[in-house]
Amino acid sequence: MKRALVTVNAIAVGATLAYLGWLLADALRARQPWAITCYDCKACTARCVLGLDPQGFVSAALAGSGDVYVYATNVRLPVRRALEIDPEMLVTVADRHLTAREAAAALGPDAELVTFKMRARDAARVCFRCGACEKGCGLRLPLLRLIAQLRGDAGNEWAAHAP
Ligand code: SF4
Ligand code: SF4
Repeated sequence: MKRALVTVNAIAVGATLAYLGWLLADALRARQPWAITCYDCKACTARCVLGLDPQGFVSAALAGSGDVYVYATNVRLPVRRALEIDPEMLVTVADRHLTAREAAAALGPDAELVTFKMRARDAARVCFRCGACEKGCGLRLPLLRLIAQLRGDAGNEWAAHAP
């Protein structure tokens, strides 16, 4: 019995170390090793008046792609503009989540809508860069630098293209 318990513990520790190693490898590949320290507390998200999810930006960094969809729950824009940015972004219409393409068919191009999820690189472009999220992060992770990278201001390649 004791021996079985030791084996189970060893497997659990091994699996945990393998998972951490996989996360670290991703973070290093995206050249954002600090990203692995984010513990998903969402304190940053709670501070964003646009409803953007900076933790989602961190996930995009870990994935090495600005095409990861992140929450953006309070950005108001005309349907026409949403279509220009990304027809597949999710928007909220009467408590339902539709793509911008579906919203255009239902409401027409001139209606105003509220976003729900956007690609990380698009969300970074509507961000005010006020810094409230970074100030709210207990680890002081460099969220503004990450947002600049996602916007393409820092000339990084991973933000603009899928892997
Ligand atoms: S810097 Fe951008 S993501 Fe952060 S709180 Fe301000 S608007 Fe939101
Ligand atoms: S506040 Fe910092 S640690 Fe918490 S989810 Fe946001 S980036 Fe991660």
